Amino acid sequence: MYPEFIAIYVGLAIVIALLVTILVILLKRTSGGGQRTSTPQPTNWMPNAPGAVVFCKYCGTQFDSSQNCCPKCGNFR
Ligand SMILES: [Zn+2]
Repeated sequence: MYPEFIAIYVGLAIVIALLVTILVILLKRTSGGGQRTSTPQPTNWMPNAPGAVVFCKYCGTQFDSSQNCCPKCGNFR
């Protein structure tokens, strides 16, 4: 009886260790790759898309990207 129990315990320990290592690897991958994929898109990702918001690089005014120039200072964005 005893050797069978030992074999079962060893097998369980190996399976648990494998699961833990797989979990750790998955967590490392999701934390590293997740930050890359979940990084917010910059506001000028699609500069000519209507409704997108851009900031004037001269005065910092926030305006719609469908406008070609800043409504406050008149500089082209
Ligand atoms: Zn401006």
